Amino acid sequence: MFEFLKHITPRIKILSLSLILILLPGAIISYLSLKSIQEKADNQRVKYHGTANLVRDKLESELYQIETNFRNTIIDSLLKLESVADHQLLLQRINMEYPSIKNLTLLGNKGELITGFASSGLNKPPGSKSNLSSEMSSIISRAEKEEFINKNYPGAIGIYRKALSVATSLQEKAILHARIGRSYFKLQSYDKGILEYGKILEYGEESLSIGNIPATVVALYQKAEGYKELNESQDRKKILMELYQRLLYHPWDLQGGEYLFYLNSTIGAIREIEPSSTISSSEVAQMEQLKNLDEKIVTQSELILFLEDRIIEEVISGLNHLASSEIKHRTFTEQLIPTIELGYFLLPTTTQQPLFRALVFQFDEGYLLTQLFPQVLSTVELGKDIVPGILNENDSLLYFHNNHQVSGYLVAENFSQYFSRWKVALFERSGKSIEQLTGRERHLYLGLFIGILAVMLLGIVILARVMIHESEVSRMKSEFVSNVTHELKTPLALIRMFGETLDSGIVNEEKKRKEFYSIIRKESERLTHLINNVLDFSKIDTGKKDYNFEEADLVSTIRQSLEAYRFHIRDSGFEFDYKMPEEPVMASIDKDAISQAFLNLLSNAVKYSEERKYIYVEVRKESQSVIVSVKDHGAGIAKEELKKIFDKFYRVPNPMKKQPRGSGLGLTLTKHIVEAHKGKIEVESEPGKGSRFTIRLPLL
Ligand code: ADP
Repeated sequence: MFEFLKHITPRIKILSLSLILILLPGAIISYLSLKSIQEKADNQRVKYHGTANLVRDKLESELYQIETNFRNTIIDSLLKLESVADHQLLLQRINMEYPSIKNLTLLGNKGELITGFASSGLNKPPGSKSNLSSEMSSIISRAEKEEFINKNYPGAIGIYRKALSVATSLQEKAILHARIGRSYFKLQSYDKGILEYGKILEYGEESLSIGNIPATVVALYQKAEGYKELNESQDRKKILMELYQRLLYHPWDLQGGEYLFYLNSTIGAIREIEPSSTISSSEVAQMEQLKNLDEKIVTQSELILFLEDRIIEEVISGLNHLASSEIKHRTFTEQLIPTIELGYFLLPTTTQQPLFRALVFQFDEGYLLTQLFPQVLSTVELGKDIVPGILNENDSLLYFHNNHQVSGYLVAENFSQYFSRWKVALFERSGKSIEQLTGRERHLYLGLFIGILAVMLLGIVILARVMIHESEVSRMKSEFVSNVTHELKTPLALIRMFGETLDSGIVNEEKKRKEFYSIIRKESERLTHLINNVLDFSKIDTGKKDYNFEEADLVSTIRQSLEAYRFHIRDSGFEFDYKMPEEPVMASIDKDAISQAFLNLLSNAVKYSEERKYIYVEVRKESQSVIVSVKDHGAGIAKEELKKIFDKFYRVPNPMKKQPRGSGLGLTLTKHIVEAHKGKIEVESEPGKGSRFTIRLPLL
């Protein structure tokens, strides 16, 4: 397969060497540049990661600072407090002081929870019935019988009133007023009922309760219901607003859901009337404020319920393992709830503060993103093209410094202690990634590298083709030498043999002697023809061939050549015909060259006809040109070979059973000679049927 490599000439060696010398360094340089760009990008990435880490640490240390200060403030302040109401106020105050922290929740020893606005398990109003005297209880039982069993409401009212006259405490009175009001409502005397509930409010005592519910709440709620029945929407609304405020500013225990029930039904009722009545702007502002508070209470209540459900146990059971001042963090990520992140720490148990064991809190994400982080980040020097931002777990942007808007970040680092689902990301000002930053250079060198490789490949392909060609030529040359040697040997041997025979004098017959002389002459002519071919070829090949053009008769030139060859043709067993004009056809020709060209065609016709031995030669004059054609009925030439047979040294591979001898030069020479005469050579051939070679020369 690599046969051709054996024939590498010095020219090719120099060519390949220079190809390698020029291209290899180029390839190496561009490859190294590519690598160094990659390294540069990697270094850059490491650098950006480092910076992102620094930014993250800075933010986290700020959070740590806030958290620590906050914890110390809480512990200090709690130690100074006594009543539960004060605790709630304290939480509200500290919440104001630390805007980055929200939902402060105290966790009591028995699992009670208290936030600034809502509580659970604390603030329970005293049970109402237990405070009644036995006498009062029996009177009330009688009244209840009238009210619920006999449905005798006026009777029931009478008994309740009697009880009222003997009632000793405000608590008892409040309960009785509520009963009377209820009975009036059942009688549909709403005016009277409203009056009765109004009396409870007149006491102005917050600690009174009916059932487990503050008496004022019950009274206001029922009054609003009464006004609803009376269709007095202005009065109803006034009462509802009062109730709403009462509920928001004095939330009570959340257990059992009564508080939330009152809160929700009140806001529901307000909404129900709102669209139908006109509202003043001050009312709007007040309503806005109340709604904010409402929202706070609702979220804090929800948080309390969540804490009761999910974390109290963990905190209480883990309390013993917690170092007193350590702050622990906990993240809840569940499908149905938005991720909740909490921090909590132990409170010191002292006599001043025996109620609470721990405090749970949350960072206010909104505040951090809009206030704290921008403030911290504006103190960080990152270089003018780098902008920091915060991403969430889905890589969506939560905050972008200076509201810069680009997509695609350079690097991102996860928060480690706080907000583990958040990342600090660094952005290039125009939103490019590291790859894009180094992209242009990379593309340039990659292009260069690929280009050089392509040129090298092309060079290799061309070189290989040249090598194959050269090796083919050199193979043909050596074949040519052996062919020519052989061609020379045969006639020489014949000449010698017949010469020696004649010389020895053993041939006496004149006829025989003549025949021998003629053989010697013809063989020497063939020899001359062959040597002429070789010599002419070498002249043509080196560009030194001169033609001796003269005005001459083409017909007689062809005729003489034919005569010289006639014997050989007939001797080889050929039938032979020709047709030529009688008169001379004059053209500017080199007679020897034309004769040689013609003889080449003739000798080919003889050589390549094995079975049907017939040759026809024609010279014909046309209007502008003269035609010399040689036709045989021999082997013929395949279509795809027709173009190549005129190439130097080319021989059609094995067209016959026995490859006749030849040099592969005959047609090359013929073509050259014809073209030197400004003529053309054509061939028509069909394998198995024969060929016709036609020389067309211009007339004078
Ligand atoms: P060669 O010395 O081989 O005859 P030529 O240049 O004269 O060299 O011819 C080239 C090739 O063309 C030959 O090898 C032969 O295969 C083919 N050829 C030429 N003339 C004929 C012909 N008359 N009939 C068939 N094949 C021919």
